Amino acid sequence: MSAPLYVSTRGGADPVPFREALLDGLAPDGGLYVPTHVPALPAGWQSATALADLGGRVLAEWLPEVDRLDALVMDALSFPIPLVPLRGGGWDGVHVLELFHGPTLSFKDVGARTMARLMGAALGGEPVTILAATSGDTGSAVASGFEGVEGVRVVLLYPMGQVSAVQERQLIVERDNVQALAVEGTFDDCQRLVKQAFSEARPAKGRLSSANSINIGRLLPQTLYYLWAGRELAVAGAEGPPAFVVPSGNLGNLTAGTLAMRGGLDVAGFLAAHNANDGFPRFLDGGDPPAGDSVRTLSNAMDVGVPSNLERLRSLFSDDQLRSLVRGEAVTDEETTASMRRVHDETGYLADPHTAVGLEAARRARGRGEAGPMIVLSTAHPAKFPEAVEAAAGVAPEAPERLASLWDAPVSVETIPSTLDALRAHL
Ligand SMILES: *Cc1c(COP(=O)(O)O)cnc(C)c1O
Repeated sequence: MSAPLYVSTRGGADPVPFREALLDGLAPDGGLYVPTHVPALPAGWQSATALADLGGRVLAEWLPEVDRLDALVMDALSFPIPLVPLRGGGWDGVHVLELFHGPTLSFKDVGARTMARLMGAALGGEPVTILAATSGDTGSAVASGFEGVEGVRVVLLYPMGQVSAVQERQLIVERDNVQALAVEGTFDDCQRLVKQAFSEARPAKGRLSSANSINIGRLLPQTLYYLWAGRELAVAGAEGPPAFVVPSGNLGNLTAGTLAMRGGLDVAGFLAAHNANDGFPRFLDGGDPPAGDSVRTLSNAMDVGVPSNLERLRSLFSDDQLRSLVRGEAVTDEETTASMRRVHDETGYLADPHTAVGLEAARRARGRGEAGPMIVLSTAHPAKFPEAVEAAAGVAPEAPERLASLWDAPVSVETIPSTLDALRAHL
């Protein structure tokens, strides 16, 4: 079968090739791009010897038109993604997939670095302004991912005072071609501004594109670590397919997992682990789709009231299918702190608050008698949240050198009210 085209979740746009979906971000009718079909995994994919090798082969089915895909993926995914087994307590068979060893210490480096390189290749030097709303981690991953990509200017929007000190530092550290904007509002306000900018504001020069997980270019690379982890477990002789536990906010990561499954990965099911922003778990329990504002929690990168990728999930699956494939869990801040402490006490593993939400969801699943292999996606390095981790576990996480050196670097940021006019001045 030929490579997929991309259609809008709202059905009001013509199918477009990947390049257009990638560069436009949002479909012209305001919907999100979804593939017309999911290519089957290439024969022998399990024999890949490294993540980048696997990535080159799998993405070639999606993106046959992209030159030197192997080298691109190898350059983007230049950091390890270890699968760490937990031992002790009731944790046997639970693995943590550490996705946080990239330059900005969150899993967003995987999608953002790959997408930035795909965009660079697609643009060939044409000027573009990339708009990214961030609840904490996206912005720095995107800014870092685009470092050195010619013709690209990045504008970051983050909710003022609602990201951690480390996250903020990573966002505002001075970079060529990056403008950081602290928005007087919530993350949902930032997302709304980005959407408005797409429909109403155009940059003075070149095109406008988005780097949020509404961009399909971030989701495709995220399918790769599901495949890689599934393969690693199979090689290690695990009994039965794994259940994936996904600390979730905008549901981009979860959507990527379902695409990997659609391609042919054997999956026992998914657990969507949310913090107090529990609109999606409620929806899975039979409630209405989430509509409310977000509340602030310890796992701030998951503070999303209205997950943008739910629209995508609901166009890929019926609500009934979704409810049988995915189970939702909501974890309070108290439970998150208890989870960090418990896991450290029982296994010696030090988790950040986002991963701890996932670990708590895994523990509950074990408590219900779910005995099969489980893979908890670890989405951030504990050193990104040193205060919360130390307060919970009594141990300070060790900061990698690239974090420590941030505090000496010059910074640059502007504060704006959450209005389109204020944003327009920066486009
Ligand atoms: C973005 C983020 C999440 C949520 O991922 P989604 O794809 O938005 O569901 C979870 N944890 C961390 C650390 C993040 O940065």
